[in-house]
Amino acid sequence: MNPEAQLASYAARSDLSPGRAWPEPPAISRPEFQRDRDRIVHSSAFRRLEYKTQVFVNHEGDLFRTRLTHSIEVAQIARSIARNLCLNEDLVEAISLAHDLGHTPFGHAGQEALNACMQGYGGFEHNLQSLRVVDALEERYGAFDGLNLMFETREGILKHCSAANARKLGPVAERFLQNRRPSLEAQLANLADEIAYNNHDIDDGLRSGLLQLEQLDEVALFVRHRREAEAIYPAISGRRLVNETVRRMINALIVDLIDASRARIAACNPQSLDDVRNAPPLITFSEGMEAEALELKRFLRSNLYQHYQVNRMTSKARRIVRELFNVYMAEPELLPGDYHLRGGSREQQARKISDYIAGMTDRYAMREYRRLFEVDEI
Ligand code: MG
Repeated sequence: MNPEAQLASYAARSDLSPGRAWPEPPAISRPEFQRDRDRIVHSSAFRRLEYKTQVFVNHEGDLFRTRLTHSIEVAQIARSIARNLCLNEDLVEAISLAHDLGHTPFGHAGQEALNACMQGYGGFEHNLQSLRVVDALEERYGAFDGLNLMFETREGILKHCSAANARKLGPVAERFLQNRRPSLEAQLANLADEIAYNNHDIDDGLRSGLLQLEQLDEVALFVRHRREAEAIYPAISGRRLVNETVRRMINALIVDLIDASRARIAACNPQSLDDVRNAPPLITFSEGMEAEALELKRFLRSNLYQHYQVNRMTSKARRIVRELFNVYMAEPELLPGDYHLRGGSREQQARKISDYIAGMTDRYAMREYRRLFEVDEI
């Protein structure tokens, strides 16, 4: 039986898809979007996510989220919602697992530094880089570069894109020029990402000691669910209180997203993916929840992401990325053989270096920095 036959008419279906850039015979044992998910899981960029920073640098502690565990949490949340809305779970899982493949080491600090270095050479943006990883950089197949994923998977990975870049990228980015929406699966993976990081960053923030439980008294969503947990377990405290609160918050966000999206879909009544593309965004929180999620996000920005201890690591990370880029540009003979570009333009060389740095894990970048700048390191 074709598992896609059970999906809603507005879900993405592989038999209606523009398919893959490089035509391949259909898989015998699995639907095409599941095949995409499997290709992503087996890619080397996916394995590297284990050693890349989400908020806390990998060596700061063994229990904090990494990009890998973050991506798995995003996929879990997105699949739960997709199943409720009769959307394509395989597609939503593929997009979720791939959405951060293009991230540099050291999270957003690394990306900002690399983007600054790449000014004049086309810039650096992690969404574009995620697409570049699956379209061009993975080296796994004899017939083509990249993973040759389905159109909808690639389109979902490309969450943001400037008009200038959209013109260069062609059909996968056309929606940015036409003001159209991507599939509901892509819209959903995007919000599942937010649900995951807002909640796990509270958990990691408290675990690290950078956040204190009392500070969260100013976040309505947290307070409401903390009270709920305390009403059921009056003696609860510590890790159990945090976990009982955070799991309730995740659940509330998921249920709200399902209900609000279901109502929007019913009101708009799309009959196909094409209708979805022409409709306003249909996967949304209710207005009330949207405001609460925003409050939580703002709290995390000012209390965790800009905490001075995070800033210290961020500053170090920027320096590492910048100095690696500069030394490779000035002395390309220091690069491993694969990254040598003979006869190419300076812009092409910069892009090669940017690919090399973006692919590094946190610890690889730190080791490389020591190897290049410290005299007694080899
Ligand atoms: Mg993410």
